[in-house]
Amino acid sequence: MDSHGHVVERLRSAFRSGITLPEEFRRTQLTQLLSMLRDNEERIIKALHQDLAKVHDTRVTQSCTYGWMDASYIQATKLDDCFVRREPLGVVLIIGPWNYPLQLLIVPLVGAIAAGNCAVIKPSEISAATDSECISDCYTVVRGGSEQTKALLQNRFDHIFYTGSQVVARSVVQAASVHLTPVTLELGGKCPCFIYGRINIQAAAHRLAWAKFFNAGQSCVAPDYVLCTEATQKALVPALSTVLEEFYGKEPQKSPDLARIVSDRHFARLKKLLERTKGKVVIGGESDQDSKYIAPTVVVDVGEDDALMSEEIFGPILPILTVEELEKSMDLVNRNEKPLAIYVFSDESSVRTTVMKNTSSGGFCSNDGIVHMTLPGLPFGGVGASGWGSYHGRWGFEAFSHRRACMLRGWALERLNGLRYPPYTEDKLKW
Ligand code: NAD
Repeated sequence: MDSHGHVVERLRSAFRSGITLPEEFRRTQLTQLLSMLRDNEERIIKALHQDLAKVHDTRVTQSCTYGWMDASYIQATKLDDCFVRREPLGVVLIIGPWNYPLQLLIVPLVGAIAAGNCAVIKPSEISAATDSECISDCYTVVRGGSEQTKALLQNRFDHIFYTGSQVVARSVVQAASVHLTPVTLELGGKCPCFIYGRINIQAAAHRLAWAKFFNAGQSCVAPDYVLCTEATQKALVPALSTVLEEFYGKEPQKSPDLARIVSDRHFARLKKLLERTKGKVVIGGESDQDSKYIAPTVVVDVGEDDALMSEEIFGPILPILTVEELEKSMDLVNRNEKPLAIYVFSDESSVRTTVMKNTSSGGFCSNDGIVHMTLPGLPFGGVGASGWGSYHGRWGFEAFSHRRACMLRGWALERLNGLRYPPYTEDKLKW
């Protein structure tokens, strides 16, 4: 298997030449990247439709490097200059998943370019239609599945930025450990949605249904399951049913706004989860193997040990677990791995802050879902098993920069410095 060593070497010598260092160079690359996306918008939309029957992955903003490269000075003695320099890391590897095949490669790439790195980009083999060409001396695409990625990972990189599943993340970390390469991991997990206290059920149903069924639930930050009381569930299910009909019509299979499951393997996995659940399907449940269609589905009477709770669902199936006390539902979440996002829907601010203060997750959003990750001012990333590190906007620039601590000294007051040189005589120790 070709490890693409020659490609990495080519990028390394480009990096060593210093070509990526000037701000002007980085700015030009970002502008060209943006033009490439704009020029190819139609082709990209077509490819996304082919992979996932969707059109919602084209929004890519150009991050700005104005001021980010400037050294930040810190207060020190009057004699020294002390500052933090943001330096590029070198040649970085960006490995992407299939669910937002373009965005999850381009947004990290923007951070890598802005920070002055060279980059190898490895798109997912599953979303093969959305697989862009972008070859130059500084940035290159390497295609392939797990075997090719494993071979690629044998190379020495200066940073690895991986987006994907927790299972594969372990082998990425193992490969990175050989060269002690730092890694950013953007992973997934089960994102809970607490619905407690007084609640605007119509608004909650709209926002929850949008966040859950957008891209057919194939979003790392999609609400994975709902925790609420029996009484709330009674009001929520009919509200969700109305909203889903509003969104996708009486025959959701005919809706142009509902994405399909990306592959036969993922379709089979989701079907199996539905077969194994001990819960009761109250909305949806239908599927069609040929078009990889699964209806927006809601399941009630789901227990903590149900099949639907055994793994990240990553599909259009929403289990509802009824837990009467908020305390107990927080215990349930805290017993498991830290999620990428936690959502809480409530009219009561005390409920919202109680959940925020007594749980831990990569991000947190109240009375909505997913939208917190669209703000470039907020860092996006997980914590613990949902990911290491963060990016988006300036945070992406930081993820691909080394913060070098610099102290510039002159020769002043050398006589005073003598106190720290041996021999440590009695006279010196008196000081
Ligand atoms: P995946 O881990 O199967 O694949 C991701 C990438 O890893 C692909 O490019 C693939 O070619 C490569 N790969 C697969 N097997 C490999 C191996 N054995 N060794 C090395 N590389 C390998 O993930 P996926 O199925 O594409 O994505 C779904 C997962 O990603 C979900 O868990 C989801 O939550 C998570 N995700 C997280 C984010 C985030 O930003 N945190 C975004 C999207 C998806």
